[in-house]
Amino acid sequence: MSQHTNLFVPSFQTDQDEEVQSKTETQTLNGGGSSVWRFKGNNAAKEAASVSIKSVLSRLFDSCSKDLKKTILPLGHGDPSVYPSFKTSVDAEEAVAESLRSGVANSYAPGIGILPARRAVANYLNRDLPHKLKPDDIFMTVGCCQGIETIIHVLSCPKSNILLPSFVYPLYYSHAIYGQVEIRKYELLPDQDWEIDLQGIEAIADDNTIAMVIANPHNPCGNVYTHHHLKKVAEMAKKLGIMVISDEVYRHTIYGENPFVPMGIFTSIVPVVTLGSISKGWLVPGWRIGWMAMNDPNNVFKTTGVVESIKDRLNISPDPSTILQFALPNILEKTKKDFFEEKNLTFRQNVDMMFDALKEIPCLVCPKKSESCTYLVMKLDLSLLGDITDDVDFCMKLAREENLVLLPGEVLGKKNWVRISIGVELSMLEDAFVRLKSFFARHVKSPTT
Ligand SMILES: *Cc1c(COP(=O)(O)O)cnc(C)c1O
Repeated sequence: MSQHTNLFVPSFQTDQDEEVQSKTETQTLNGGGSSVWRFKGNNAAKEAASVSIKSVLSRLFDSCSKDLKKTILPLGHGDPSVYPSFKTSVDAEEAVAESLRSGVANSYAPGIGILPARRAVANYLNRDLPHKLKPDDIFMTVGCCQGIETIIHVLSCPKSNILLPSFVYPLYYSHAIYGQVEIRKYELLPDQDWEIDLQGIEAIADDNTIAMVIANPHNPCGNVYTHHHLKKVAEMAKKLGIMVISDEVYRHTIYGENPFVPMGIFTSIVPVVTLGSISKGWLVPGWRIGWMAMNDPNNVFKTTGVVESIKDRLNISPDPSTILQFALPNILEKTKKDFFEEKNLTFRQNVDMMFDALKEIPCLVCPKKSESCTYLVMKLDLSLLGDITDDVDFCMKLAREENLVLLPGEVLGKKNWVRISIGVELSMLEDAFVRLKSFFARHVKSPTT
């Protein structure tokens, strides 16, 4: 179906797996002078990784069945770039090729990133900002992921806690767990366009709260916050004395009516760290380049030592490839509007199709059609299902019986919801719908039970 290999989806067991398995039985004997190997892996990341999308998906892929005459439909994670309908822009490809051939991008870069890249990101973000960013306010990161890791670890201190939405990108959970920052979840309100429950925020914050994280546009809910709502968020954060970390990685994936408003607009009210990357907007998550932007005209981040701490941290971490850093100015400046518009039109068609189709599957209730990002979230109506206990059980059985992989909401902090990725070929969504329908028919509660 696709011309790329989907590197994320495992094929069924390979020769190599069998080899590793047979060796595992004899692994502790080294055959040499001493009878055992003196090293082994530790479990430091175990708890943090157990809530990652990757670990949950690999369990679901393992449940898929080779005996079914059905291909695996991987709709649990979002990576449209593997499908022919979602190619990156030619301008971006040209920019990378030019950077590669220039011969000037073969060296190490400073920990904070090279100046041309930082200046380009500042200019790009400044298009929408009243308080202009300077190149010094930008740090280059290995995708948005490293921005998440960096800011959480920089802020972590004994007893600290952080406010995360439930429906969150799970890497925030993982790094909070790994950095020993207590997680306090706040609610998003499905009946109010998924707005943030600000009263709830006030109730859970205390003197040890360091930050609140928002995602705008929101993965996976698919909403885009209004200017009015974001202003209230800024005022609440100011009242609580906390910074706002705004994950805007999906700012170019909007196909509804609400326009994107960057959180950095409200920086005269509250200091804002904006996290971004080209992964989603340009359909190149494998290129691994992103940024952190310190929106802070009042110098709060400097006086509190946050900026220094970020620099220290980035000095001891891997950097995004210099080739990509050097290509970034051209990527940001030269990509044409048409590229984003065409891609978003395709997402919109996919969402329209799936949202309407889901109405025929009563156990999956979708409160709002997505207007951004590449997912739909659905609440499971368990009262209609005979032998399904929760979202994880639903996804496991679906994988086993239909080779269809969806993401259980639990991974995103929302039990008994399910996320489906619409950033795939339309034919795959049609196929998924047929499989969901027959799965529902098999598990629907009969009147006698
Ligand atoms: C994909 C995603 C990220 C990670 O982005 P990368 O640039 O691939 O590291 C971060 N936050 C959200 C909300 C995402 O969806």
